[in-house]
Amino acid sequence: MLSNNPEFKKLLLLHSRDRRKLVMDKELANLPRLIDQIETKIKIEVETIEAASHELKLLETKNNTIENEINSLSEFISGQKNKQLQVKKNEEYQALENEIANLLEQLSLKEDLQIETLLKIDGANEISSLAQNKIAAKVEDLKLEKKVLFLKIDELKTDIHKLESEIQESRKEVDDALLLGYERTKKVVTRPPFIAPLEDQKCSGCNLRVSNDISSSVLVEQKLTHCDQCGRIVYFER
Ligand SMILES: [Zn+2]
Repeated sequence: MLSNNPEFKKLLLLHSRDRRKLVMDKELANLPRLIDQIETKIKIEVETIEAASHELKLLETKNNTIENEINSLSEFISGQKNKQLQVKKNEEYQALENEIANLLEQLSLKEDLQIETLLKIDGANEISSLAQNKIAAKVEDLKLEKKVLFLKIDELKTDIHKLESEIQESRKEVDDALLLGYERTKKVVTRPPFIAPLEDQKCSGCNLRVSNDISSSVLVEQKLTHCDQCGRIVYFER
């Protein structure tokens, strides 16, 4: 049978190199997508840091505004209190008394708002520093992951290049007729393996049973025999 033939062994070597190359090509083609995914993750993390510090800045601006309002309100209140000391008419005194009470009420509301804002600033500070530390570390990890993938691309390109010359060598060594049959099979089958051993009369490529004609042909013929189900080249390993 053909599988005892050294020429067929050369074809099997070519086949295994072809298969290795297909796996590597697929892996290489997939890497840019993985790198893109990491870049998206990095972008999201950086945006989280920016959002946290933006929130903090907004709160600080708000606090400054409240602070200014409290200061000018306090100044105005003490001005009105001085005025109150100088008025002589009872109605004027009472009017100022009411106005001051009203202003003090407003001041108290502003002070409450400021306390609330300061508490929010504390929270935002905490979140912001968490973001700075935790997320920054995460971003570093992601960048490292990305670097490893770029290295992997270089490594794969080198390996594929080497494998390509091994494939060329194999092709030169394989008998022309076998090579031609193998190339035709590759076109028909489209998915590896292109050569599959028979196991209990079953093609290990498609897992279907081949006819008796096929299995007896594999045993006697000295040329390529194909699975009558999937078209792969079939052989007996022993
Ligand atoms: Zn098959």
